[in-house]
Amino acid sequence: MARRVEDQAFVTLATNDQYCYGALVLGQSLRDNGTTRQLAIMVTPQVSQPMRQQLSLVYDDIRQVDPLDSHDEAHLALLTRPELGITFSKLHCWRLTQYSKCVFLDADTLVLHNVDDLFDREEFSAAPDVGWPDCFNSGVFVFKPSEDTYNSLLQCAVTHGSFDGGDQGLLNTFFSGWATQDIRKHLPFIYNMTSNISYTYKPALLRFGESIKIVHFIGTAKPWRYTYNTLTSTVSPPAEIGHGNGHQLSYVQAWWNVFMSSIKPRIEQAQGGELAVHFDSLNLESSVSSAPREPGSPRTRQHAWEQGEVDYMGSDSFEKIHEHIQEKINGEDKDKDDEKK
Ligand code: UDP
Ligand code: MN
Repeated sequence: MARRVEDQAFVTLATNDQYCYGALVLGQSLRDNGTTRQLAIMVTPQVSQPMRQQLSLVYDDIRQVDPLDSHDEAHLALLTRPELGITFSKLHCWRLTQYSKCVFLDADTLVLHNVDDLFDREEFSAAPDVGWPDCFNSGVFVFKPSEDTYNSLLQCAVTHGSFDGGDQGLLNTFFSGWATQDIRKHLPFIYNMTSNISYTYKPALLRFGESIKIVHFIGTAKPWRYTYNTLTSTVSPPAEIGHGNGHQLSYVQAWWNVFMSSIKPRIEQAQGGELAVHFDSLNLESSVSSAPREPGSPRTRQHAWEQGEVDYMGSDSFEKIHEHIQEKINGEDKDKDDEKK
């Protein structure tokens, strides 16, 4: 077995049991890819006992953090800014000073290849945000724990707040030199590949997809909110994830593959207790009716279209689209004529 490095850790955060599903899969994906670093997770008091038990099977270090610790003056100052609560919880990672260097990963990330080389980087390294590439995305970053930095960050939070109300705005204000000062602190995009369909640069995905190391499921469409069919072993997006807002299904599928093969069996083993209730909140289906939609159905076509798979010569050809628009126009004209009558 590879030598364990004791003083470096991957760190994540979960403030409730839902995000713990993400953290369990993330931790497992790091182990499956042979990390030699420690795995640490910060949890808030809301995380249930049975879930902590599951976390302890994947993580070396479970740290309780309390965002509203009234003994801390800086915390008290922050109480007037309740929207920074979650931001605050993430900042606690700078207090993990038994580690000399850490990599923070959001609980909604999934590791596809070994990323231990991230520890060769210095604070503060991160990848660009696809929405505004002069800002970094705070879902993956390299940092050096330090009480001094932690206190300065809190001071910055109190003085400047966060321009997006979350940790990303605050961290971009604090590490404002990131965009221009040192290119070595720019992590390649493959270390934080946001897989939202609406942002995808499809030819680049085809060219570089194989080398993606970390997928980040940003936004509200988290993998654990998708439906997994246990008969067909396939995922489908929940109804409320609207047009073009979801993630590339192949990555959501990869997330569920880890969940089904490693996490679910352990949860079932421990079941009978409270966790059974939480487990029910996942969308596991076993009916045939939810099997993949038959090819050619409008829903399937829409899906494929959203994935960038356009059937130029067939059902998405110009003629077909033109025909469809014409039908709609004619239909509306007919409705208007009917109204007039
Ligand atoms: N988080 C959490 N509980 C919450 C919201 C966020 O534990 O209710 C943690 C979790 O680690 C999550 C991170 O904070 O991955 C950042 O939030 P999120 O990933 O939802 O933001 P996004 O990446 O979608 O902007
Ligand atoms: Mn995230």
